[in-house]
Amino acid sequence: MNTETKWESFVRKVVPYVPGEQPKEKDIIKLNTNENPYPPSPRVKAVIDSFDCGRMRLYPDPDASVLVDALAENYGVKPSQVFVGVGSDDVIAMAFMTFFGSDKPILFPNVTYSFYDVWAEVYRIPYKTVPLREDFTINPDDYKTENGGIIFPNPNAPTGVLESVAMIEEIVRANPDSVVMIDEAYIDFGGESCLPLVEKYDNLLVIQTFSKSRSMAGMRIGFAIGNERLIRYMNDVKFSVNSYTMNTVTQLCGAEAVRDKDYFSETVSKIIATRERSKKRLAELGFTFTDSKSNFIFASHKTKSAAEIFNELKKRKIFVRYWNKPIIENYLRITVGTDGEMDALFGALEEIVNE
Ligand code: PMP
Repeated sequence: MNTETKWESFVRKVVPYVPGEQPKEKDIIKLNTNENPYPPSPRVKAVIDSFDCGRMRLYPDPDASVLVDALAENYGVKPSQVFVGVGSDDVIAMAFMTFFGSDKPILFPNVTYSFYDVWAEVYRIPYKTVPLREDFTINPDDYKTENGGIIFPNPNAPTGVLESVAMIEEIVRANPDSVVMIDEAYIDFGGESCLPLVEKYDNLLVIQTFSKSRSMAGMRIGFAIGNERLIRYMNDVKFSVNSYTMNTVTQLCGAEAVRDKDYFSETVSKIIATRERSKKRLAELGFTFTDSKSNFIFASHKTKSAAEIFNELKKRKIFVRYWNKPIIENYLRITVGTDGEMDALFGALEEIVNE
């Protein structure tokens, strides 16, 4: 029976993205949404401690100049090449709206960040998913067909597989008529960024976030760097939707986080060390996995199903991420936590896989 009312027939209907669970309990081990287990730079806390709440009367700087300038300096580009948004989800959504206006399909991998198809649906952008190779790598030749744009993460999520800058350059070079977006949410954990390529190609947009390597998922800061023309087009769209997206405190905290380079490299190194140690333990426990260069490991067990391990871990208050989807239904995505959290995970896994 169709009970749709007249107004409902005009609704923009979408199946929303489902983010990882954010359980309310405190005594859990949370390895399900790729958050950083360490706090942000102490300089961020100092900003908050000294913030004058009187400033909240005023609208924030719509250009977020303090943050844009800090990022431009850090990455050696002009401020006019930097776009900031409320998390990279906001930045990518703006970029989809700005650049993917062709009637040809945009391309992204069949196993990738599951928000891309949702944005494509909500903005009514035609899209085509491109199968990864068996080992989850990208075949650049698959991206040399007519398209309305290209996006993929590097390293890819949820696989953790890193592609080379040379391979990405090959795709960017082969597509001068469309914008290629590289979502570098996890690039700081051992990958080589393709940021240097933005000087060479006017169709490349590189997107990064403060949510992972800078421990600020709760602040919501993302940014894109590209050719000045791309950034101008993005700002035109942003200022046509909402000028004041990023609040004053966030702008100040973000700028301080970028300036504290020592703290950044220290925490990133700790996570990389824990990740590599975790790979060894997981192998001993009978898991196989890709050689992740991110802050998570995408692992499958030789005998126990991912669904069973996921449920057993949850009973022990350890949360990892699991998708009941074709191709990846026997994989778990495990965020790299502290050494202590990972040891607790290995203890639980030992029980579960030997049951
Ligand atoms: N891209 C990828 C590949 C991600 O995994 C995430 C995290 N969910 C994001 C973008 C968005 O992160 P944020 O909005 O927190 O910057």
